[in-house]
Amino acid sequence: MTRSAEDQRIRQLRPAKMPRDAWRPIGVHWEDERNSEGELVPCLTIFLTGRECPFTCVFCDLWQYTLDAPTPPGALPAQIERALEEFGEPSDGTTVKLYNASNFFDDKAVPRADWPAIADLLTPFSRVVVESHPLLVGDSCVEFAKQLEGRLEVAMGLETVHPVALPRLNKKLTLESFDRAASILQAARIGIRSFVLVGAPFVPQAEAVDWAAQSVDYAQRRGSKVVSLIPVRGGNGEMQRLAALEVFFPPTAMQLERALDEALRLDQGIVLADLWDAEGLAGCSECRIARIERMDRLNRSGGGQPPITCQVCEEVDQPHDR
Ligand code: SF4
Ligand SMILES: [Zn+2]
Repeated sequence: MTRSAEDQRIRQLRPAKMPRDAWRPIGVHWEDERNSEGELVPCLTIFLTGRECPFTCVFCDLWQYTLDAPTPPGALPAQIERALEEFGEPSDGTTVKLYNASNFFDDKAVPRADWPAIADLLTPFSRVVVESHPLLVGDSCVEFAKQLEGRLEVAMGLETVHPVALPRLNKKLTLESFDRAASILQAARIGIRSFVLVGAPFVPQAEAVDWAAQSVDYAQRRGSKVVSLIPVRGGNGEMQRLAALEVFFPPTAMQLERALDEALRLDQGIVLADLWDAEGLAGCSECRIARIERMDRLNRSGGGQPPITCQVCEEVDQPHDR
C-alpha cells in the first residue's frame, strides 16, 4: 500500500517504537468472556508480534507493538506454542483470540505458509478470533476457517457510523466496505465481532454515547454477534494534535458506561466494554472506579446491574434509564 501524505504526516508524529522480538508474543491474557451465544467461557488472548498494519488510522496506538519488517515465516507458530505452554491445556468451550495489532489476512503479517501449523496448534479451542480490516476480508477467511477445528470469528473495526468522523479517521473504510465484508463472512457462516469507538475524534463530545450506540446497532444489523466498545486512547502524537484542536475529547468512564448501557438496551447481541487499561480513563474521582467495576459485572452478566449513584457528579451526569 502506498502511503498518502496524510499517512506520512500521522506517522511522523508517532513516538519511537520499542524493538520487538519476532519470536516472542507481546503478551498473553486470560479472562472469562461471554461468547456469541452468551455463555461465559474461558478466553485466552495471545497478543502476537508481527508486521505493522499498513493502514494508518488517526487513533491507532497498536503500531508500537509491531515489527517494521514482514513477520518471519515460522515465528507465529513459535509464539503461539510458547503462549499455550504458559496457559496449559484449555478446557471445553475455550475461545482463543489471536490479536496481531494488524490484519490476520495480510500475508506479510501472517504468512499463509504458517496457517496449517497455526490451525494445528489451535485444535483444542472451540472458537478462534482473529482481527482484520474489512478491506482484507475475502476468500482467504473462508479458506482459513476450513483449516480450523473450532469456529472462526473475524473481528473488524467499524469504529463509528458518524458520517463526518468515519472518513476522517483515515481508516480507508466506508460503510459499504464494512457491509461487503460482513456479507462475505455471514455467507460463509463465519462469526463477526466488531469494534466500536467511544469518544471517536470528530464526533461532538456531547454525542459520543449516542453515536457509539448507533454504531453498535449498525454492526449488529449486519450480523455482528459480539461488539466490543473501545474507549479511544490518546498518546500517539496525532491524538494530542486533535485534542488541541478540540476535535478529540478523551472519553470518560461514565461515557463508556453509558454507551454500554445504551447498547445493551438494544438487546440485539453481546456487547462488551473493553476495560483494558480502564484505570487510565478520565472521569469523576469519586465514582470512576465503581463505574469500571460495574462495567466488568455487565461484561460478565449482560445486564441487571443497578446504576451507580454519585454525590459528586450526579447532578451533572446521572446514569439514565430512558
Ligand atoms: S486498521 Fe487497526 S491496526 Fe491498522 S492502523 Fe487502523 S486501528 Fe491500527
Ligand atoms: Zn461521580
